[in-house]
Amino acid sequence: MSTKQLVAASMVTSADKFSQPLEARRILIIEDEVDIAELIALHLRDRYEHVELCHDGKLALALAKSADWDLIVLDLRLPSMEGLEICRQLRAGENYVPILMLTSKSSELDHVLGLEMGADDYVTKPFSVLELTARIKAMLRRMSVPKVTNETTPDKLSHRGLEVNIAKRQVLVNNQGVELTAKEFELLCFFLRQPGEVFSRAQLLDQVWGYGHQGYEHTVNSHINRLRAKIESDPTQPKILVTVWGVGYKLND
Ligand code: CA
Repeated sequence: MSTKQLVAASMVTSADKFSQPLEARRILIIEDEVDIAELIALHLRDRYEHVELCHDGKLALALAKSADWDLIVLDLRLPSMEGLEICRQLRAGENYVPILMLTSKSSELDHVLGLEMGADDYVTKPFSVLELTARIKAMLRRMSVPKVTNETTPDKLSHRGLEVNIAKRQVLVNNQGVELTAKEFELLCFFLRQPGEVFSRAQLLDQVWGYGHQGYEHTVNSHINRLRAKIESDPTQPKILVTVWGVGYKLND
């Protein structure tokens, strides 16, 4: 089925979905292939209030910086400025909006670079729109403030000078605020909930990144390194997130 036929087919389905109220979310889709961008937008507009499209890299960077987005879908290959550069510049400007990268199937390097440049997740082209929307839904759910807290899900976690307020997504290291990307925040909370327990890279990928990331264990290393740079007093001699040689990582208890 061609993309145009897919668009036509999904218009029929979306016409039947009047029942659910839209979530007040702002999503920016940066993708130069207009058919694909519109197909994604069509599906997201069924669920979210504000979905905007941009087909050019430089314009997209300005647009990404100009508003408070809840999530950005970012294509890797774009005219005038590559997706990775957009991602890099946003992160360099301490903009930690969740980014879902769209990568091409041909290059494995794309995945790795995409995650190492500070993207939070990726989907490989050609993708199913249902999978993409499921990923977006999961990313937004993880970002949202939990409405109910109880003993099993405390809203504050602390450990050795580290204080994490989950509801406010705030991290303090020795009373100094630090900015983490969505994925770094999840990774840190994951360890804080299980002090002393050792996790392999494969286990971390499975439990923090979710399904479909097998084979990208080395992206765990780069996230751990970035996290260490933000929370350890000497990232070359980590005292909080330590390496267990030959096994993986643990939070020092
Ligand atoms: Ca493209």
